[in-house]
Amino acid sequence: MSTQQPANLSPRGPVLVPGGAGYIGAHFVRVLERLKVPVVVLDNLSTGHRESVKATFEQVDLGDRAALAGVFQRHKPVAVVHFAAKCYVGESVTEPAKYYRENVIHTWNLLEEMRAHACRDIVFSSTAATYGEPRTVPIPSDHPQNPINPYGRTKLHMEHMMQDYGHAYGMRTAALRYFNAAGCMPEEGLGEDHEPETHIIPLVLGVALGRRKSIAIFGGDWPTRDGTCVRDYIHVEDLADAHVRALTKLQGGTSAIACNLGTGNGYTVKELVELARKVTGHAIPVEVVARRAGDPAQLVADGAKAKELLGWTPKRSGLEQILKDAWSFMQKHPRGYAGD
Ligand code: UDP
Repeated sequence: MSTQQPANLSPRGPVLVPGGAGYIGAHFVRVLERLKVPVVVLDNLSTGHRESVKATFEQVDLGDRAALAGVFQRHKPVAVVHFAAKCYVGESVTEPAKYYRENVIHTWNLLEEMRAHACRDIVFSSTAATYGEPRTVPIPSDHPQNPINPYGRTKLHMEHMMQDYGHAYGMRTAALRYFNAAGCMPEEGLGEDHEPETHIIPLVLGVALGRRKSIAIFGGDWPTRDGTCVRDYIHVEDLADAHVRALTKLQGGTSAIACNLGTGNGYTVKELVELARKVTGHAIPVEVVARRAGDPAQLVADGAKAKELLGWTPKRSGLEQILKDAWSFMQKHPRGYAGD
């Protein structure tokens, strides 16, 4: 499957990608490479995988201002697509300090270096978690943002910082609010590999692979059609495509973008497990346990704004396709990148 090339993404220098060795970042970088756009990946490898990166690579922590300044001096990036962040709701509740440092303070470092080096365009990963408990589902991009966990709050701070830098310093910014990033590009040798893994799809498929005996479903008494949480799963290749489109818009002069990236289709955890049984041919036993702190009952996107602003619609995001891709990577790489 190929990503459709949006018109005119031909930056005059490289695109800097903090977090480009992470799950979503690595997929975006591979899509940019397919489009022959020069890339520099910056990653501290705290959770990313060096094996997933073919592009020019700088092992730098965004907390290290001197090293970050060196990257800007050496490579002179013309734009930044920023994926480097902590992203676990549960962990953010127990370790908020880590989230404020890595998501807020490190993003401030990045913006300051961009400003110092006259690099004005930034696309970054925001999240549906900035909305909190939705008043309406599907959630429109202009829905009030009242996050209910520290992860969502730090991402909202990032959005506000970008808006303020945009107004004051002429930076052009795109906040892309992901729903549940999922799937992978196994044909590129790319997959999802977190340690520890907390995301539902790799955990469910891990049961099919025999890594664990059953999947714990967090809560069976939510106000949803079968009592389990509803989420909108979006394929990482579609996410990558949306980033390319957002960057193209900024480079073309658009000053501020904020929109949802989701499919508009919600699946309960039980429905997801049932589909995973079909795709893998394995039984996948479940056990319903207590709710997880910080989880909203339903997160489903209204994607109208991304369609209007970016001309973007998901192409590879049917849940069955997502599960097939994830299953394909997992079967070929049962130990993740470590086994490569
Ligand atoms: N979930 C679950 N068991 C798990 C992990 C996740 O029931 O072991 C549920 C979780 O409560 C949520 C959905 O699966 O409703 C997706 O969770 P995930 O952590 O993958 O993504 P999040 O929605 O937190 O971004």
